Amino acid sequence: MSLQIPDDLITTLAAAERVVVLTGAGISAESGVPTFREAQTGLWAQYDPRELATPQAFARNPRLVWEWYAWRRKLIQQAKPNLAHHALVDLEQALPTFLLVTQNIDGFHWLAGSRDMIELHGNIARTRCYEEGHVVSWWEETDELPPRCPHCGGPLRPDVVWFGEGISEQALRSAFDAAAACDLFISVGTSAMVQPAAGLPLLAKRMGARVLEINPAQTALSVIADWSLQDKASNLLPQLVRRLDFPTNAIDGAEQ
Ligand SMILES: [Zn+2]
Repeated sequence: MSLQIPDDLITTLAAAERVVVLTGAGISAESGVPTFREAQTGLWAQYDPRELATPQAFARNPRLVWEWYAWRRKLIQQAKPNLAHHALVDLEQALPTFLLVTQNIDGFHWLAGSRDMIELHGNIARTRCYEEGHVVSWWEETDELPPRCPHCGGPLRPDVVWFGEGISEQALRSAFDAAAACDLFISVGTSAMVQPAAGLPLLAKRMGARVLEINPAQTALSVIADWSLQDKASNLLPQLVRRLDFPTNAIDGAEQ
């Protein structure tokens, strides 16, 4: 049995002018993408991910860090966006002003078709060069690892934010500006614990927005949210879109 969506939530969403959505690992987990720690199997079990996802680790052993990301890229390629990702594309297309802020690096929102988007922690499908920061979407796979930047010849690293690195200030500012100005903030599949993203729904609430949380378990956000729906996003978001009577691009049940 799935949760009922409250009528006043439907009315609020239907009338919303500005909507901001924050997504986290939960929405990817519903696609079968292993979390940071779940990915540590086989050869990689002996490493602590917090000791691989750092600039120091890359400086010490760039090949090891490159190979770890190549492995994680492969795990992600074995999965695909789910009905929740597709429902967020429907929302983006139907609502007047919409911004998706994600903490995920798998690129699934982009693959599903979301375009008004901020990837706070980068995207594992892209690389950038370690020395000059050129962002590179395609690189030649060679025996030499990591591969070289086609622009400057420097070593390539994944275009993700590592421990000890800051999120781009411009990305953060855009996300916080949008949260401050929205009338509905939706938090999906995130524990709402990790800063700075955890501050987004709090700011939205303080500035007068209604807050909807969709997460299978209670979080720190649940008590301040106007609606806290404890279920999978891939169940709830498509239901929400159906109740709104928006056009939909998801094929029902195709990717459960
Ligand atoms: Zn370069």
